[in-house]
Amino acid sequence: MASALPHFDAYINGESVGPSTGDYFPTVNPYTGKEWARVARCDGRDADRAVEAAWVAFTKGPWGTINPSQRGAIIHRFGDLIRDNAKELAEFEVRDNGKLINEMLAQCNYLPNWYWYYGGLADKIEGSVIPIDKPEVFNYTRHEPLGVVVCITPWNSPLLLLSFKLAAALAAGNTIVIKPSEFTSTSTLKLMELVARAGFPPGVINVVTGFGNEVGTALVEHPKVAKICFTGGTESGALVYQAAAKGLKGCTLELGGKSPNIVFDDARIDDAVKGAISGIFAATGQTCIAGSRLLVQDTIYDTFVDRLVTLAKSARMGDPMSPETQVGPVTTVPQYEKILRYIAVAKHEGAQCVLGGAPANGPECGESPWFVQPTIFTEVTNQMRIAQEEVFGPVLSIIRFKTEEEAIEIANDIVFGLAAGVWTESIRRAIKAANAIRAGTIWVNTYRAVSYMSPFGGYKKSGLGRENGIEGIREFLQTKSVWISTASDVPNPFVMR
Ligand code: NDP
Repeated sequence: MASALPHFDAYINGESVGPSTGDYFPTVNPYTGKEWARVARCDGRDADRAVEAAWVAFTKGPWGTINPSQRGAIIHRFGDLIRDNAKELAEFEVRDNGKLINEMLAQCNYLPNWYWYYGGLADKIEGSVIPIDKPEVFNYTRHEPLGVVVCITPWNSPLLLLSFKLAAALAAGNTIVIKPSEFTSTSTLKLMELVARAGFPPGVINVVTGFGNEVGTALVEHPKVAKICFTGGTESGALVYQAAAKGLKGCTLELGGKSPNIVFDDARIDDAVKGAISGIFAATGQTCIAGSRLLVQDTIYDTFVDRLVTLAKSARMGDPMSPETQVGPVTTVPQYEKILRYIAVAKHEGAQCVLGGAPANGPECGESPWFVQPTIFTEVTNQMRIAQEEVFGPVLSIIRFKTEEEAIEIANDIVFGLAAGVWTESIRRAIKAANAIRAGTIWVNTYRAVSYMSPFGGYKKSGLGRENGIEGIREFLQTKSVWISTASDVPNPFVMR
């Protein structure tokens, strides 16, 4: 019964807070297809309360005056607590988004690194003394936080994509309001149980849950918000960017992708086959960096496709909580329907379906109504919609190419530019391709690797700005130039100095 389900409240000013609406919406386990909890349906009033709490914490609370080493120590301790609670957090992720426990455990065990790395950076944000060209002036810079930062996250990897933002924004000295996806809010709320224990003062980190068009827009438009850090689809990202522009707010946008994974004929074929599988069927293809456009050189095309189909056929679908499972359910109903629509489009466009191409409903799929068979289309041309539009599911399009130049041309002939893979044993080819492909991340002889240390972000319609690494913290700082005159008199006031 719905009333017996666990209820999750928002987290504002260090406390769990019921929504102003009094309403809670269901969150569904994609493997059972059943509601397992209810989440606070916040609206603009809650957004206002959360931003106000973050604003007070930034302007009046201890967070603004605490020394940066102490700030770093709190962030570091938060990382320790995440390490100690990684298993429980991973289980929350799986229950909400249906991703594999193996993957979510690995992610949650890796998450503390973001907090340790940026906690360590908190007291290394140094300004400069400028050897200024003016006489009798001492000029220096300070890198200061922006104020209240809103972090909006999608459903596919809630805690990982939150950590890309949160750790750096906190280390820079900002205060935060988080809006997780309506489909996967519980892991973020569970994480809040660690916030006070780590030592963050009230109001430094807040969470409001609910729908993008209700509470999300209210946050983006709020006049006391300085910056929005958004991961999600390109269309929603454009709406957020427009709304932020009205208030002249900064935006970091991590958006969609349709990444080329290019296999040259000198590649180690079995490695490249595994790379292709990892690019599209890991995470059931629900990842922005999916290598959903596989470009294969014509001299190895048939051999490659045979080996790929054979390996993909052996992928074990099933309960995402089981460590044996390799492909889990699709996370949401709209996403499931979208994937099936794209499969129909590909068939209609004349692509050859050599694997899958339909819903899966065997006993291994439990009661989940949302499994899709791993699907491979061959003879795809780059003009087809299935080659150009993001499916965000286990659907691979294979495109044939003849020459290096043609591969690069096809790879770049798309509105997205998030990532790309290149499989070759030639260092010359690898470097040439890595230079020529217009994307924010290039993997050579590997795929789907991310680190807290290495900048991540998109070219073209895949986004703006960078997360992770040293560049990641700069997105949350602004520079102040301070001029101190050491002259004994004030010069002519009618002439610019
Ligand atoms: P959406 O764009 O639908 O939603 C992302 C988040 O934005 C959700 O929290 C959503 O809330 C919120 N939101 C939606 N509209 C607005 C709005 N107008 N104002 C403020 N907030 C809003 O993406 P999905 O959750 O469906 O995630 C899938 C997409 O995310 C894919 O396209 C994928 O490529 C992209 N993605 C990009 C990554 C990257 O790093 N580049 C990484 C992972 C995913 P709610 O859900 O409650 O409506």
